[in-house]
Amino acid sequence: MSLQQLSPSLINLIRLSSALNSKDVNFFKQIDSDISKQLDSLDTRFVSVINTLLKTIETEDDVETELGEDDSANWKVVSDLLDSLFEKTEISLDEHRLHKSSNSDGFTYLDSNPTAKPSRFSVSTKPQKKFITQINNFESESYKPNLTEKPHALKSLQESLQPVPATSECPEHYLNPYSYEIMNQPYPDWILQPLPKYDSALWSSSEDDQPQIISTLEQLKALIKDLKKSKVIGVDLEHHDFRTYHGLTCLIQITSESKVDYILDPLAPEVRENLKLINEVFADPQIVKVLHGAFMDVMWLQRDFGVYIVSLFDTFHASKELMLGKHSLAFLLEKYVKFRTCKKYQLADWRVRPLGLELVNYAKADTHFLIEVFTKLQNELLKKGPDSLTRVLYDSRKVSNRRFEYSTFKPLTQTNEVVSTMASVPLEKPGEPNTSVSLSFNYNRDQPWTHLIFSSNLPLAKRPILELLFRWRDTQARSSDESVRYVMNDYLLVSMVTYIDINSEVSNQLLLNIINDNSKFSNSSGFIRSKLPELRKYINEGLSELQKMDVKKWNLALGIQEEADKITSTDNVYESVEDVEQLERDFASLTDEYSVDFKTSSVRTVIDKRTDQYGQTPSKKIWSVSYKKDGTPKQITSHEVTARVNIILDRYRQQQEEIAKTSEVPSEAAVEPVEEQPTPAPEEKPTYLDVAKKAKSDPNEIITLRKHQKHSKKRKLETDEDVVSLDLNKKVLNT
Ligand code: AMP
Ligand code: MN
Ligand code: ZN
Repeated sequence: MSLQQLSPSLINLIRLSSALNSKDVNFFKQIDSDISKQLDSLDTRFVSVINTLLKTIETEDDVETELGEDDSANWKVVSDLLDSLFEKTEISLDEHRLHKSSNSDGFTYLDSNPTAKPSRFSVSTKPQKKFITQINNFESESYKPNLTEKPHALKSLQESLQPVPATSECPEHYLNPYSYEIMNQPYPDWILQPLPKYDSALWSSSEDDQPQIISTLEQLKALIKDLKKSKVIGVDLEHHDFRTYHGLTCLIQITSESKVDYILDPLAPEVRENLKLINEVFADPQIVKVLHGAFMDVMWLQRDFGVYIVSLFDTFHASKELMLGKHSLAFLLEKYVKFRTCKKYQLADWRVRPLGLELVNYAKADTHFLIEVFTKLQNELLKKGPDSLTRVLYDSRKVSNRRFEYSTFKPLTQTNEVVSTMASVPLEKPGEPNTSVSLSFNYNRDQPWTHLIFSSNLPLAKRPILELLFRWRDTQARSSDESVRYVMNDYLLVSMVTYIDINSEVSNQLLLNIINDNSKFSNSSGFIRSKLPELRKYINEGLSELQKMDVKKWNLALGIQEEADKITSTDNVYESVEDVEQLERDFASLTDEYSVDFKTSSVRTVIDKRTDQYGQTPSKKIWSVSYKKDGTPKQITSHEVTARVNIILDRYRQQQEEIAKTSEVPSEAAVEPVEEQPTPAPEEKPTYLDVAKKAKSDPNEIITLRKHQKHSKKRKLETDEDVVSLDLNKKVLNT
């Protein structure tokens, strides 16, 4: 048999064996004692093989993978290893297939081997430790633009730095200091005429053809001098947001009109400190800056360096205006310059130094062709009609005009113009860490934890704990300049909220169990482990506060909740919650037939709410699902849940069809009018538990959900992208 014939079945086998995870193994062990015995002996052999393997591997000492003593952490290493073995096999097969079709397709490739696992590098010390101006994460006033000079000013620096007085909507703040110029400076005249053909330099990934790296002040000054000769430049940024609170701009790629690729290293303290000199170019209205999907870049530039863009051309908005259907840079590169990029380094750790060749090439590809893409888009926009280009320029101005603001001083209602660090909890007292174990029933929809309430369908009684953990996590993250995700990811946080019993103290063991159970989804459980006693103390203080709380406050909270539920929103949090309700109803009629696990479980998911770089619909993701069985937390994969839910939905549909066949549809006239139920008199003195129960069955809780019935279909759940979130505890409690 030839390799060609073999390859499809091999691939299938690899997929299947990857799918056979440890849970399936446990299942097989239970049903067949023979398998069980064989597996156990295999197990021992396997462990010894793995141990030998582990000893021979040079430890890739990644600081992120803080290996603990427990099994799960060790398993992570093993499963990483297996993953990479499987992946290598797949790659070899891919390569094999690639060679079969050796015909050139006219495309240039960034990476001829796009499925190969990116190399891993380690970052031993946090770069922010070497910064000249140290980062302080406890803001004492609203974000003040870091400008001492203002090149290309229409409004003087002094005038631009006047604080805007507080209103009921927004605390005192500073505007984007280039706001006036961004919105009013004319673009250069030439941009309104069809641009001549422009060809990017030929692509080369070779060692000898590398971008110029800018890592000293001297080089920066020379760069600025050189860029001033361009009428248009391509710009892109790479950013890191895991081992830092607000985020760190790690790379600035620039391609000049004379086709030189540059990579600036803003982690070099000298460059970071002096980068605002580049406003000489970036704020010059006569030099057009081409960026793709610049809405975050603009914010990163001002937050980290005090750099502002006047005369932005955002190719994302051009692609929207041209209704190209797809709006990613990757798509534009394929369409306009026949370059096939590869996104596998998008989430690389951009702090690594020195940058490897792979990373450099990836970064270079993001700006290398931008000017050419820009000229082609510009021509198409002019062909489309007189207003198209104007609209794109106006949209670009608005992108540039965005401003960064600390969460503590952001406007009360969210706006597009102001961006804050994600999940950042405002400080109660500016300049000081939040330390109080404060509990509130503030159901302002814009709280940083609101989306988790809805995506994980948390009952009212659990919400103060969510808030409590959110505050703790935020304070930890600010103090050690880490992201909140590094301290405790949303999934772990929601798990804790779920398993903490409001009426009893938490133990170290409980917290540890939850953390262990989550460690396979996290690469930073070391931090939380080291804070365990502190966290336990904090939670228990919070719980005793909660016990002391006035029942009236709970009632008040319920009132506020009703108000909150009346708010209509196109926010897709609701869209997913509405799906949940549908599923819950389906479950309610079928739980009897359902497997043991589900009867006694609470199934939840967490939605990844990150909007992506290009303003596209946020992706919804299930990371995994956890449930309780005999009081202990367990976890199953989303695939399993999807499969199980589909079985249920199929049966439900069958039932419904059968019912439909046997029963006649009553005519309108035959339907009895439903008598209005008198509202029950409020209970005299509801106990804590009464209120909590009421909260769980409160019909108001699903008011908002019903409004979205129109989208709700008993559709099949097909992929991880679908959101499944079921709280069967609710059902168990209600019956
Ligand atoms: P890009 O403009 O595509 O080079 O992305 C710039 C930066 O945005 C990257 O360095 C990442 O930090 C971040 N980023 C890009 N794409 C994603 C994504 N899909 N999810 C999260 N972060 C992203
Ligand atoms: Mn970008
Ligand atoms: Zn990029």
